[in-house]
Amino acid sequence: MHTALLLEMAAGAFPDRLALGPRAEGITFEELSARARAGAAFLAAQGDGSIVFLGLNGPALPTAVFAAGLLARPFAPLNYRLPDADLRRLLARTAPSVAVVDDDMLGRVEGVDGVALVARSAFEAACRDPALRDAAHDPLDPDVAVLLFTSGTTGEPKAAVLRHANLASYVISTVEFMGAEEGEAALVSVPPYHIAGVSAVLTGIYGGRRIVHLEAFTPEAWVEAAAAEEITHAMLVPTMLGRVLDVLEATGERLPALRALSYGGGRMPVTVIRRALDLLPHVDFVNAYGLTETSSTISVLGPDDHRLAITMDDPQVQARLGSVGRPLPSVEIQIRGPAGEVLGPGEAGEVYVRGEQVSGEYLGRKVTDDDGWFATKDSGWIDAEGYLFLEGRLDDVIVRGGENISPGEIEDVLRTHPAVADVAVVGAPDEQWGERVAAVVVPRGAAPPEAELADWVRAKLRSTKTPETWVFREELPYNDTGKLLRRVLKAELG
Ligand code: ATP
Repeated sequence: MHTALLLEMAAGAFPDRLALGPRAEGITFEELSARARAGAAFLAAQGDGSIVFLGLNGPALPTAVFAAGLLARPFAPLNYRLPDADLRRLLARTAPSVAVVDDDMLGRVEGVDGVALVARSAFEAACRDPALRDAAHDPLDPDVAVLLFTSGTTGEPKAAVLRHANLASYVISTVEFMGAEEGEAALVSVPPYHIAGVSAVLTGIYGGRRIVHLEAFTPEAWVEAAAAEEITHAMLVPTMLGRVLDVLEATGERLPALRALSYGGGRMPVTVIRRALDLLPHVDFVNAYGLTETSSTISVLGPDDHRLAITMDDPQVQARLGSVGRPLPSVEIQIRGPAGEVLGPGEAGEVYVRGEQVSGEYLGRKVTDDDGWFATKDSGWIDAEGYLFLEGRLDDVIVRGGENISPGEIEDVLRTHPAVADVAVVGAPDEQWGERVAAVVVPRGAAPPEAELADWVRAKLRSTKTPETWVFREELPYNDTGKLLRRVLKAELG
């Protein structure tokens, strides 16, 4: 199945339903489909190769995604927050290409070899041009849909090649075709160059839900849009959710229309999700774990598990709030040891995944093994009931004298201390143990004594997990999608 067909099917089923935008200036599914056809005709005339998108969220994004789909060309959204030199380097890696660029960003990327620049305003005008809407396109073929650069949390961004079959498999297996009820609306605030932004567009359109884009995320703007547009569904990364909760607490707003909120992209602190469940008891929460390379979500912890965890005393059920749930039915997950051996329940190792939605390649490089398994570079374990628990990125797991220590578990404990506003635990070089546990703490007010924090951890976890180095900072380094940049802290520590 080709991703462009997702829109064609939706336009056929519900032509007059709103597909995009705030209600006041909404675009119907039929109109979006016509714009995508016109956009495709326009872009085809501009040059060869992939269709790059560099700009803020908005209706031009889905239009360009589906236009690229109609042309059977890869769609490559780029991160406009990168410094100009990095942006130009990534852009050069997409050449030959046609780049749709926000007008005020054109100056940042002029003159890259093999790249034809198109101002977003010109693209949008062409999409509305009736003369272009009936242009014929080459028949669709099952090829590359999206070229997506990973977040670069661990180093240079990798160019993941996502085929139509990968993305469509994800969409079809997770969303019921046109399953949304009239009036459902999704607020998309994750950036257009992130897999969550791309998959939100595809699942929203196929599901028949109106998409409202937030150009750039601030917690105040998110809450305002969610209230004004009676948003029913949304996705946030954990740091965004924490900031949204602050605004809800301060304003008293409780978003009565909101029905489902999924979160993912990074580890969710248990303290934050407990607060969310408390403030928004009418909302279904879903923890979604996935990677760029897997076309988004591969496992989910659903609303029932969230509710049980806060209503039942059973510690095993409560612990599930720290899990990323069970694999989607269309996905297989295995835990493997260092020699590639498959591990059993409770044993920690590297998370491997296989399924139609899993991309097998980076640009010019195949990365799955012969049986289709992809190594996620995440460390984790699966319990006897099949729930997956992540320990963190394999590189972030602290190896102290041969013992594997998961930073997330220690961070969760420290976050429950009243004087800790935020915290990151990383490995620091140690002559005796190889690595020792270091905690970088953002204090709430004055920094608490280190011994008090150490006692706090020791009371709840094995003593080898108690941080031996303490650093206090005013803030932690996060990237623009809210991911903690542990490598920055590790470099600082040594
Ligand atoms: P790079 O590969 O360039 O270092 P990245 O891995 O951060 O960047 P993404 O594909 O955006 O790029 O992120 C995927 C990673 O995010 C996963 O491997 C996992 O570590 C983390 N992650 C995603 N969802 C969750 C979740 N629900 N809970 C915990 N961690 C998550």
